Amino acid sequence: MPSYRGRFAPSPTGLLHFGSLVAAVASYLDARRAGGEWLIRMEDLDRPREVAGSADAIVQSLESLGFDWTESIVRQSERTELYQAALDRLLATDLAYPCSCSRADIQQAQSTSPADGEELRYPGWCRVEPRFPDRPLAIRLRVPPTEIAFDDRIQGRIRVDVAAEVGDFVIRRRDGLFAYQLAVVVDDHAQGITHVVRGADLLHSTPRQILLQQCLGLPTPEYAHVPVATDLNGIKLSKSAGAAAVDLTRPGEELWRALLFLRQSPPQDLRRAEPATLWNWATEHWRLDPLHSGLSAPAPSM
Ligand code: GLU
Repeated sequence: MPSYRGRFAPSPTGLLHFGSLVAAVASYLDARRAGGEWLIRMEDLDRPREVAGSADAIVQSLESLGFDWTESIVRQSERTELYQAALDRLLATDLAYPCSCSRADIQQAQSTSPADGEELRYPGWCRVEPRFPDRPLAIRLRVPPTEIAFDDRIQGRIRVDVAAEVGDFVIRRRDGLFAYQLAVVVDDHAQGITHVVRGADLLHSTPRQILLQQCLGLPTPEYAHVPVATDLNGIKLSKSAGAAAVDLTRPGEELWRALLFLRQSPPQDLRRAEPATLWNWATEHWRLDPLHSGLSAPAPSM
């Protein structure tokens, strides 16, 4: 395996928007700068949320923007035996257990409702046996009371007590779908990913993923979480919030804007350049340190 394998892992829930473009550009440049490989993985497990045609549209957008990936694109929907095998291992070693509690059950038992975006902490009611065995069962990871710590290449040292924050979390949902946390860990390992570069909106998931890696005896990749693009109201750009698709009639300019957002200081005269010219400039100049100092500063205006 080469010493650097990175990836971009979009979910096909809409067209490629500026926020996902930023994550794609950062992971691609980091891989290219290191002389590594870069893969695309389509995270299409959550079929109910999938928007028909968007997986192909995302790939076409990446092509028009001049991204170049190694190996054929992996689709999570075709890999469920891998996730099942990992789940079976966790169940066999009692690191995971079936749970019959619904979100409403957990919410009812909490004195305050969670703030926006905050997750419910599961109190572990089904740890010994499911409370309502006749209901459909989810599978949860039995989270030990240990702190997970790692050094993010941008965000610095991160320490999280997963047990205190989210408790035993779901790795297979009650509707039978494998949870993102499990699939991403299995795939990052199966694909030999050494470096994960993605949006800071996923930073809160990383300690759970590291815990799963430890439970499954898998190595932990390097992580770098880049700042997340927001709209003028400070709301994260997302497909669900209706963010506009990247304008493919001006691919070079969209890449230039992404480089500006990532504080790479792209020269003004490259603003109308072709993608290939921008990629050459950006690979040569790629650095993560401008992002360290920019963590609390507002993103540059476009
Ligand atoms: N599929 C996830 C998303 O689109 C990204 C997963 C990851 O990079 O780990 O938000």
